[in-house]
Amino acid sequence: MADKFSTQLFGAFLMFFVLQPFVIKSLEFESVQNLEGAQKGDVVNGLNQIKKYLHSYGYYHHDNEDTLDDRFDDSLESALKAYQDYLGIDVTGKIDSDTIKGVLTPRCGVPDHLVSNYRFNGGKWTNRSLSWSVKNSVNVFTPYELTLALTAAFKSWADVSPLKFAKAGKGKKGDITIGFFSRDHGDGYPFKAEEFAHAFPPKDGRLHYNAKWDWTFDPTKKGENNKIDVQSVGVHEIGHTLGLSHSSDTSAVMYPYYNPGSIKRDLTDDEKKGIKALYRN
Ligand SMILES: [Zn+2]
Ligand SMILES: [Zn+2]
Repeated sequence: MADKFSTQLFGAFLMFFVLQPFVIKSLEFESVQNLEGAQKGDVVNGLNQIKKYLHSYGYYHHDNEDTLDDRFDDSLESALKAYQDYLGIDVTGKIDSDTIKGVLTPRCGVPDHLVSNYRFNGGKWTNRSLSWSVKNSVNVFTPYELTLALTAAFKSWADVSPLKFAKAGKGKKGDITIGFFSRDHGDGYPFKAEEFAHAFPPKDGRLHYNAKWDWTFDPTKKGENNKIDVQSVGVHEIGHTLGLSHSSDTSAVMYPYYNPGSIKRDLTDDEKKGIKALYRN
């Protein structure tokens, strides 16, 4: 009897803590699944979500995100083609299964194509020695664990550039400020469902992780292989804080998408050249 009860209790626990977050994550994209097959000329309920998505990341140009409609127009077709080309999938200009897969993959919140009204524009630091600090609004890891992962992430860039990084003294604010936040966190860029992190360019230096996702230090550990590697994302977002934008090379650390469970901590030759060129003099 007691056993049966505890089994039920365990089941309820699983439902609540394991299944619920997944439902919440995918809720905003429920209608995206129904858009498969849509093409130019169609009017489909929910198409405005794809427009919004492509608008957010710099593919679909429109003055006001709130007035996007459900018509599959010429601009949506060309935006989709540009998006598919960037992702390295077939360029069909239609909403096919690969496109839906792309839209449902967790990504960085920084646009792939810079839009003039975004603050995510280039620039570089004049100082070669930069400090960093951590201040969370949500505690996901212990400060010690997080420091280890971030130190390693900064090392990836320090190893291949003239830049040096050091953690700011206790209570001091660094040039680069890092933390875990959720949804609307006061910087004008509330996290969207699909976004795992975002960061601002020099000399702003803010780097925000989205606390909503499941994070890990080591996706190879048992039970961690569906989580997001804090160090891999750290290397990516630090790249933004140093002035780099996204790369359409799927093997690049600066590629905007991340498959949970994967490790991507090593910079490609192009990225090494990129940071060297940016801080050459
Ligand atoms: Zn990014
Ligand atoms: Zn933020």
